[in-house]
Amino acid sequence: MDKLIKSISESGAFRAYVLDSTETVKQAQVNHDTLSSSTVALGRTLIANQILAANQKGDSKVTVKVIGNSSFGHIISVADTKGNVKGYIQNTGVDIKKTATGEVLVGPFMGAGQFVVIVDYGTGNPYTSTTPIVSGEIGEDLAFYLTESEQTPSAVGLNVLLDENDQVKVAGGFMLQVLPGASEEEISRYEKRIQNMPAISTLLESEDHIDALLSAIYGDEPYKRLSEETIGFNCDCSRHRFESALATLPMADLEDMKDKDQGAEIVCQFCGTKYQFNQNDLEAIIRDKA
Ligand SMILES: [Zn+2]
Repeated sequence: MDKLIKSISESGAFRAYVLDSTETVKQAQVNHDTLSSSTVALGRTLIANQILAANQKGDSKVTVKVIGNSSFGHIISVADTKGNVKGYIQNTGVDIKKTATGEVLVGPFMGAGQFVVIVDYGTGNPYTSTTPIVSGEIGEDLAFYLTESEQTPSAVGLNVLLDENDQVKVAGGFMLQVLPGASEEEISRYEKRIQNMPAISTLLESEDHIDALLSAIYGDEPYKRLSEETIGFNCDCSRHRFESALATLPMADLEDMKDKDQGAEIVCQFCGTKYQFNQNDLEAIIRDKA
């Protein structure tokens, strides 16, 4: 089970979230059958969304849209404040690695575009905020969003590591934020530590990467673990929901599906689940509609 840990420095001036998102990204890869670069790009977006959702209070939903103009197409993800995230990438088949090192490439294939965050508090008035894609590596794009749009200086590191068969081995990351009241001296200590931090992929490969991340962030400084939350890939789609969606189609389309296609298959774009509606099901929907 994946987890997100919230922590705060004893001085109260810095807070950090650290995440293990391995199962989340494994599930996304299984659901969408993604190749290497697409797996990492989608995985990083899901982790970014888990961080943003954890940053919200109450019962709300956070949508992240990474809208680049290159190979990946759009990456769309939705998370709630109960630890659930779902998402998809338009092009599941991007598979580009550096020849010498085998490193999976992401940023160069995102292209230029926008990093869009939509927060829905359930009031019917979602709040949308957009910043440009900075590097397309997602972590930097999220840090830029938090610093520019939410006016909170933030450092973010997140990544997805694959094994030799391009299957997800480990995924996770961190977000560190400076809170009001931090002294210049304290800020420069944290900055120096973040700059000298081992690569996020090295930390993720540690035996316990949650501990490795926390000690890389705080060094010797005292801090408190505030909470540990369970997170995971879960889609809220259902047969009932798609049945309702079918019922909104024009009658002629439904008749065509029943008589010409002899049934319909609907695939949930967020999780890949397939729902079959046979002629009897469609007949019932048509009858209810009429
Ligand atoms: Zn679904």
